[in-house]
Amino acid sequence: MTWSDWQLPPFVTSVFFVLGVLTLYWVTFNWISSWVHSRRINISDDTISTWYGVIYMLIFVFSIQTLVVGKGDSWQFMNFQLIAITFCAFFLSIHVPYYFFFPIVLVYMVFNQSIGYWQSWGHAITLMAFFWTLNIVRLKFHNNRYEPIIYMLTVISFGGPLWIWMKLKFDFVWGTFWQEWLYLIIFEALLYVYITMLSNDTELKLRLAKFASHDALTKTENFAAYTDDIKYLFEESMQNGQALSMMMFDIDHFKMINDTYGHLAGDQVLRQVSSVVQVVLSANDPKVKFYRTGGEEFNIIFPGYDVEETKTTVNQIFTAINHLEVKSETYNIKISISVGVSEITADDKSSIDFYNRVDQNLYHSKRNGRMQITIT
Ligand code: GH3
Ligand code: MG
Ligand code: MG
Repeated sequence: MTWSDWQLPPFVTSVFFVLGVLTLYWVTFNWISSWVHSRRINISDDTISTWYGVIYMLIFVFSIQTLVVGKGDSWQFMNFQLIAITFCAFFLSIHVPYYFFFPIVLVYMVFNQSIGYWQSWGHAITLMAFFWTLNIVRLKFHNNRYEPIIYMLTVISFGGPLWIWMKLKFDFVWGTFWQEWLYLIIFEALLYVYITMLSNDTELKLRLAKFASHDALTKTENFAAYTDDIKYLFEESMQNGQALSMMMFDIDHFKMINDTYGHLAGDQVLRQVSSVVQVVLSANDPKVKFYRTGGEEFNIIFPGYDVEETKTTVNQIFTAINHLEVKSETYNIKISISVGVSEITADDKSSIDFYNRVDQNLYHSKRNGRMQITIT
């Protein structure tokens, strides 16, 4: 159609077809991923890309095959299907064990009316070996500078046998064989370049997002992330009648630490305090969230906890930090913290009311002589 109407050779249309299929995947994947994150559903991007990738590519492989199934040239779309398979095996790094793979291939062969041909069996086995080889190449060579070369060698060396099986089955001329093999190599090279460009963009976005929500010194989430999360968690807890608690702490006489031992020592204290808290939290409940909200002020949100339930974790953090010794060759700094804890009440009109109560408790601890916990 395009050849007669637009004077475009089918090869050019094919290139844009392949790029279009991938772009549609990328756009819809991003849409699904941001929808899932906006609802704070706990599914990782990797899980989404695996499942969505498999479903998308299976629909693609089967639906283009319905156009040609049973015809004398039902090999026509094989290069597109090989691209889809490469995308799953290599770029999405999807590992499919043989007990899933084999039934999928069988279903495909039944659907394609090719189950009675020995050439198709040879093709199916080569295809599975191709998939697993791509898996291994990705695993072993990802981010290695030889990755593109090994990838191309894999594609070239499997492309030939995959097309030989088709030549044996359909007995088309050698010219077609060479041409299809060459097209496959070109498509696969384009795929590599295109996906690398797209994922560089995604990685950059991820880095920027991390930069905006994390504190560079302690690697904990920052004040911006805190304000975002507390608003959401407060409203959600109020609506669902769920408990929500918060612990705030501030390092005592931190200015003196800076003045006595220097700013770098102060930074080291902040880093060690953060890592102690992170260790305690990950041992207790990774859902509890930790933020550096100010210079030497930190905040911990406990979704689903009333104050009684926070006690173990709060006490562990309090004790661990008060026993912490921040050392170098020239100093051995001992520190203490003052803590405020509270939970949401029906009277809280917004997360600010809740925050203010925790803050008041923290300052009560400070005024009362420091190194203590105030809970209301
Ligand atoms: P208090 O016991 O009442 O909390 O006294 P404090 O000295 O800890 O509190 P103050 O608010 O007077 O001093 C906080 C100090 O924290 C002042 C500031 O220079 C220091 N600070 C803030 N951010 C950083 C940082 O990133 N690194 C270092 N080293 N110091 C910081
Ligand atoms: Mg302080
Ligand atoms: Mg302070």
